[in-house]
Amino acid sequence: MRLDEERLTRRLFGAVAGALAFAVSTTAVIAGPTPEEYAAHVGGDAKIVPPGELKLGGHKMTCGQRPTVLDGQLDDYGAAYPGFLILNPRLVEKVPVTVRKWIFAHECGHQFRGPDEETADCFAVQRGRRQGWLTSEGLEEICQFISPAKGDSMHFSGSHRCEQMRKCFADPSIK
Ligand SMILES: [Zn+2]
Repeated sequence: MRLDEERLTRRLFGAVAGALAFAVSTTAVIAGPTPEEYAAHVGGDAKIVPPGELKLGGHKMTCGQRPTVLDGQLDDYGAAYPGFLILNPRLVEKVPVTVRKWIFAHECGHQFRGPDEETADCFAVQRGRRQGWLTSEGLEEICQFISPAKGDSMHFSGSHRCEQMRKCFADPSIK
């Protein structure tokens, strides 16, 4: 129960003031709280959605046997703890459905591939391709989402992530 605060502040892009468009990051390898502990700790309207019951844009999203905690106070769109995912429904509902699914799949990528952001991105786009919800047009929506209008350092990061995601999307071998 002690690690969440510290980990909440660690979230890569969430920590960048004023850069709300960034979202999606997080690491998840060390042991953490259970979903119940997490939900109890953040309080408010946090809600645990059992595996297989989460719907985004009317479609069921699964990440193996992992539940998702909906936490409206999360300082980011999504996060991953070992064994469960977290989404901020207030933020997530404001982005296009494809972007929502990508956020979920990215956090799912951390479950299976560890803390590396690029690897989680790649996992997410390849999963979207296999599951049929991600087209190259959808990928461009995601790129718009992570690329702010200005050429600051985060823009560079967003562009770089997109470049890598386009490669992964086109790559028939699964990463
Ligand atoms: Zn991430």
